[in-house]
Amino acid sequence: PRTYIVTGSASGIGATTAQLLRDRGERVIGIDLRGADVEADLSTREGRTQAAAKATELADGRVDGVIACAGISAPIAKTISVNFFGVTELLEALLPALAQSDAPRAAVVSSMASLQPNSAEMVDAALAGDETQALEIAEGLAAQGPRVGYLVYPSSKRALSRWVRRESITPAWAGAGIPLNAVAPGTVVTPMTAELLNTPEGAAMVDAAVPMPLNYHQPPESIANLLIWLTGPENTHLAGQVIYDDGGADASLRGNDI
Ligand code: NAD
Repeated sequence: PRTYIVTGSASGIGATTAQLLRDRGERVIGIDLRGADVEADLSTREGRTQAAAKATELADGRVDGVIACAGISAPIAKTISVNFFGVTELLEALLPALAQSDAPRAAVVSSMASLQPNSAEMVDAALAGDETQALEIAEGLAAQGPRVGYLVYPSSKRALSRWVRRESITPAWAGAGIPLNAVAPGTVVTPMTAELLNTPEGAAMVDAAVPMPLNYHQPPESIANLLIWLTGPENTHLAGQVIYDDGGADASLRGNDI
């Protein structure tokens, strides 16, 4: 069996991905705040370092696939730390363990929200690796209330999608034979969206921003199965892509503008 590290393994897309992999007989090491093999807070640098070290130890030093699902959508500054740095710094810390595999792969969960209005300044700070600066910008937005604070989420996902495209073709990833890609979901039915989708007004608001002409709201399996293919041995040449697996939301919103 292959050994996978799945972040956000205690809920939603991460939990479904971990279960589907286990059902296939693969070995899964889950990382989450609670209820996981490795309990760590990916919003902090120490949390990321400890999580990578502990997961590598549990994997006996060799990791075949990393699937990063952990994320939050709250209109708070921490969202940039979890969604961007909690993914990129963890992946980088796992590179030595991936190097021990004969078919290493990595995939992250971005979002169609990366297409929504965002803070270019925060995206640039994140891509420059400056967490202090990115947090300062995020705090400034969050202080203006939830409507403006929401910008932190699309900014974190825009930065993550761009990071994947930039890094995927470098010596560290492509040069080491590691496909690195992102999946961008539409509206997935998980605990993250449960409250919002629970009222007709909330659902109408979501649907206005995220049109899904193909099969409407999606189950976590629709994302999990793609993440599993991207990180499986069959994927030999798909790299640096942000795959919109979103019921047609991207095609509806962007049309020819790609
Ligand atoms: P979820 O809330 O069900 O699961 C997210 C998991 O991440 C939770 O188990 C949570 O504990 C974990 N997590 C949060 N902060 C963490 C931290 N600091 N350290 C470690 N773990 C932490 O949500 P989900 O819907 O499964 O979301 C998974 C990913 O998919 C997220 O990155 C989210 O942004 C993305 N996404 C979700 C949707 C959607 O509609 N649900 C749409 C687009 C993108």
